[in-house]
Amino acid sequence: MQAYLQDAHHRGLTVGFVPTMGALHQGHLSLIAASNQVNDITVVSIFVNPAQFNDKKDFEQYPVTIEKDIEWLVAAGAGVLFLPAVTEIYPPGLTRERFFDLGYLETVLEGKYRPGHFQGVCKVMNRLLDIVQADDLYMGQKDYQQCMVVKRLLAIMQSPTRLHTCPTLREKDGLAMSSRNTRLGAEQRKNALAIYAALNYIKGQLRLGSTQSLTDNAAAMLTEKDFNIDYVTIADAGTLEPVTVWDGKQQLVALIAAFQKEVRLIDNMIMN
Ligand code: AMP
Repeated sequence: MQAYLQDAHHRGLTVGFVPTMGALHQGHLSLIAASNQVNDITVVSIFVNPAQFNDKKDFEQYPVTIEKDIEWLVAAGAGVLFLPAVTEIYPPGLTRERFFDLGYLETVLEGKYRPGHFQGVCKVMNRLLDIVQADDLYMGQKDYQQCMVVKRLLAIMQSPTRLHTCPTLREKDGLAMSSRNTRLGAEQRKNALAIYAALNYIKGQLRLGSTQSLTDNAAAMLTEKDFNIDYVTIADAGTLEPVTVWDGKQQLVALIAAFQKEVRLIDNMIMN
């Protein structure tokens, strides 16, 4: 991979990079399309990163559809697939773990409910970026906090790679596309719509002053559809600090994480 890309760099070609965990859907393809628009070569990685799963069962049950993924990548015009083995990314003998100082970002929301998750994300992204040396990196707003973490990582590494955060692709009924959606049964799939409904509710009802009743009512919408909630939060879009009283100006994002049976779903929406 490095030899191939070094040659491309020497020939003056630009490289866009789309890291994924496979089980590809249209959301992933939209990132590839964004990269293809500006870069000569688009590298897509498929690597289910054990380091970012705090829940072993979630890792074991993560969907793997590599044959279909490859067909989709060919059709999408992704030039290069990087499909490394775990030992290529984490060679045995690498014992001293690097700690990435993510500060406040790691203490809230996904960081709070999935301890170690973002250290795992940084660990793999650091390795992947080291190998791919991309000019441009494409990630989804669906994982809002992850984009912030990776932006921080790029700053820590003093990396010249540019991060592009791309819009969330949704199913026709509004459910955010996700590899985990394939694990939803028919009833859970219907219930899952409550996340999009709750985000739209918050956006539609947002007023100056206290936001408490909005998050309370949104949470009630979710529990009514059998969700077990990790969080329903309205936060500052730039820092992710919770906003309980809105001044009418602050940029806000609403974020939700909740379980439909054992399947954990996340989504978010920019409010203003
Ligand atoms: P994953 O394979 O779930 O790790 O996702 C790989 C990349 O695709 C990440 O940057 C995600 O944010 C992005 N992604 C996941 N779902 C969507 C979606 N519905 N729309 C746009 N991008 C997405």
